[in-house]
Amino acid sequence: MAATRDYYETLAVPRDISEADLKKAYRKLALKFHPDRNKGDESAAERFKEVSEAYEVLSDPEKRKVYDQYGHDGLRGQGFGGASSQHARDIFESFFGGGGGGGGGGLDSMFEGLFGGGGGRRPSGPRRGTHLRVVVHVTLKEAFSGTTKTLTIQRNDPCEPCKGSGAAAGTKAETCSTCHGHGQVQRQQGMFMMQTPCPKCRGEGTVIKTPCTTCHGQGVTTNDADIEIRIPAGIETGQQLRLANEGEPGDRGGPRGDLYCIVQVKEHSFFGREEDNLTCEIPVTYSQLTLGGEVDIPTLEGTKTLKIASGTQSGRVLRMRGQGMPSVRGFSNGDLLVRVQLATPKKLGAREKELLEELREIEGATPSSAQKSFFDKVKDLFD
Ligand SMILES: [Zn+2]
Ligand SMILES: [Zn+2]
Repeated sequence: MAATRDYYETLAVPRDISEADLKKAYRKLALKFHPDRNKGDESAAERFKEVSEAYEVLSDPEKRKVYDQYGHDGLRGQGFGGASSQHARDIFESFFGGGGGGGGGGLDSMFEGLFGGGGGRRPSGPRRGTHLRVVVHVTLKEAFSGTTKTLTIQRNDPCEPCKGSGAAAGTKAETCSTCHGHGQVQRQQGMFMMQTPCPKCRGEGTVIKTPCTTCHGQGVTTNDADIEIRIPAGIETGQQLRLANEGEPGDRGGPRGDLYCIVQVKEHSFFGREEDNLTCEIPVTYSQLTLGGEVDIPTLEGTKTLKIASGTQSGRVLRMRGQGMPSVRGFSNGDLLVRVQLATPKKLGAREKELLEELREIEGATPSSAQKSFFDKVKDLFD
């Protein structure tokens, strides 16, 4: 076994780091080296494994104590293995699984690919089904209040007549005569003997002589399934919801894979979104900005009143606290950021025109202090 780097060094943190800061440091590194973001980069995968292992130990107060005192040897003596324990899996899932966003599907297979959990697979043992991914579209209003959707997905079910075996009723899959059930064959490649999946049974170890006529030996049939999914309030585009055991059926009685629902929040015609904040722009009049006043703002929960202070400049962004999106973690709402934009009228009534003409005369006689300082500045540029 290669020498293991110091866990604190791996995470680039001081030895007296708090639990909260440790979590932050890990999260940053884990995202940076996440296999989904570094496709095919083996050194990143290796680093990801390293930081995950370091965090697994240091985030567990008991293991951290042992590690601080005795180092890696202490952990081995205590029977703590590598990062394939349930604790590591929980950490991994809490960062990348469920509605956490960021991670890819196939979490289990990724976890196992990285950490080698799950043990060796015998060709004839039960095997977990593959994970499925679907995209779920929701409106901003649905994302605001949370909703339940029913999705119709195409997915396989174990074939009824053959009970998933693929062999016709009254027959059974037979042990492959080429590999004698091992699923692997030895092949000479130059100087070496290589193990490769058996070409006859494609690594299954068994062959079906008389295929089931319903599924043609596949063991599964494709059906429409209605899946109900609860979308939590505050969900954002790209976040994933995992429905355990709603994926493809497993082989030979293995459990179903999971179903990952990737959320897409549709663009809204009026509101923009910046994480938990909502943004919008409303037209206001010169007198509303100058004298101040109240304007009605449409929100996702009905009309609210926005106070405009006297002397507000056009283009200013006013904050309506707590009127944004709810946090998906359930803490608090974001804010609604309203940009007030002066709308110059294209048509004026006779009375309006009269008043504005009068206003122009007054302004001409006594320019506002803002205008005066502006002209002073500009004058300097031409001197
Ligand atoms: Zn075979
Ligand atoms: Zn069948």
